[in-house]
Amino acid sequence: MNEQQPPKTPRLGHHRVHRTVTRKPLRHFFHAAVTPVAVIGHRHRYPLAITGLLLVVLVFIILPVWGHAQRREASRQPPRHLALTLPPLPANQDDRTPILQPWRTIRVQAGQSLADVFAALGLAPATLQQLVDIDAGRSGLSRIHPGQRFEFRIGPHGALQAVRFDRDDSHRVTLDFSGSNPIETVQIRPLERWSRIAHGTIHGSLVAAGDKAGMNQAMILQMAKVFGYDIDFAQDLRDGDTFTVYYDNVYRDGAYLHPGDIIAAEFVNQGRHYSAFRFRRADSSIGYYSTDGRPLKKSFLRTPVDFTRISSRFSSARRHPILGTMRAHKGVDYAAPRGTPIYAAGKGVIVFRGRERGYGNFVLIRHSRHISTAYGHMSRFARGLHRGEHVRQGQVIGYVGMTGLATGPHLHYEFRVNGVQRNPLTVTLPKPQPLPHLERIAFKRSIQPLLARLKRASQVSQLAQAR
Ligand SMILES: [Zn+2]
Repeated sequence: MNEQQPPKTPRLGHHRVHRTVTRKPLRHFFHAAVTPVAVIGHRHRYPLAITGLLLVVLVFIILPVWGHAQRREASRQPPRHLALTLPPLPANQDDRTPILQPWRTIRVQAGQSLADVFAALGLAPATLQQLVDIDAGRSGLSRIHPGQRFEFRIGPHGALQAVRFDRDDSHRVTLDFSGSNPIETVQIRPLERWSRIAHGTIHGSLVAAGDKAGMNQAMILQMAKVFGYDIDFAQDLRDGDTFTVYYDNVYRDGAYLHPGDIIAAEFVNQGRHYSAFRFRRADSSIGYYSTDGRPLKKSFLRTPVDFTRISSRFSSARRHPILGTMRAHKGVDYAAPRGTPIYAAGKGVIVFRGRERGYGNFVLIRHSRHISTAYGHMSRFARGLHRGEHVRQGQVIGYVGMTGLATGPHLHYEFRVNGVQRNPLTVTLPKPQPLPHLERIAFKRSIQPLLARLKRASQVSQLAQAR
């Protein structure tokens, strides 16, 4: 292995065999606020004395009362000491002089808005408005999430002195409200990305194999998402399947922050090879492409819910569990716990949202002139979902339930072509367009070193296993 090992990389796993780590250049630059410092040599002592005296005179003009007391003091001391004497802070006599209170850390609770946080702290809504105005939508303050951290400095009379929070991973914002106008300062915290390769073989479960290869849960899920259009991770995995993933981890101040992106990956499922390469197109959209330059993302999700099992398949005749009669089942039933999110299988328009006899709470999405998808038995619809609304692929449209004719919580899913139900598990879907010629050339060139890297990691691992 000719990869260099980084110094003191936090260890994420305990299996060294399958890992190589390389350091990439920083994606962010260091920004440091530099305070100019005057360096005064021997020859400049005279100007120093004059500047010092001027400063003293100024201070005396601004603070005459204090100055009066000090002038008597000063007259007893040698003049050269004057410039070095700092005026003591006046006593806190009014609100204009802030007493610096300790920071109070608030973690956002589920369902809490920033307005709720402000109300709980007894802060004026006007202050929140000021904060929102200054931020100008840069920090997403209107959609804060549970666990997000805000720090408040509140004065003795309950007025906000300052608030600080992370705008994103690399920007910490402090807003000082102690003066007449709020002042914003932004601290830039450089991020580092360290890439590594993980290789695993499935024995039992994907999660166990990923864990053994040193990947955390989030990265295992990311891999499943990248290949999710081609591999059904709930049904298709077999012992002996292998994967090789080249990815980033993001670090800040030397500490692991969160998983980064998958740069390249390979998955061998039941002997079939699937590859994924991250590629930024000329229009700066980012996606995953196979070695021949076809996007992995398809127009439709394979399954619109993270289900536990398929409880009923598509059939032209079956005994209905409630009615007891023979009738066709024109969809697939995915059993999942009540409340499991249901996703729009593809982008489209909501053409129905409401109660529909045996379907219970029902949503119908039209994706094109010919194709629509239908979702039944929902416990409830996603908040704010209305008829006529455009949805994107993967958007939550509702939650699993058992409304209508259902014996247990599940999603009844239909795929309709020209209004006729087809088997969602087998229906042929149009192949996505490959990259256009020139971009495909650039793509193929860019993946050569990645292909070599994946191959090498896989070989190293096989050698280790053969030993
Ligand atoms: Zn069904």
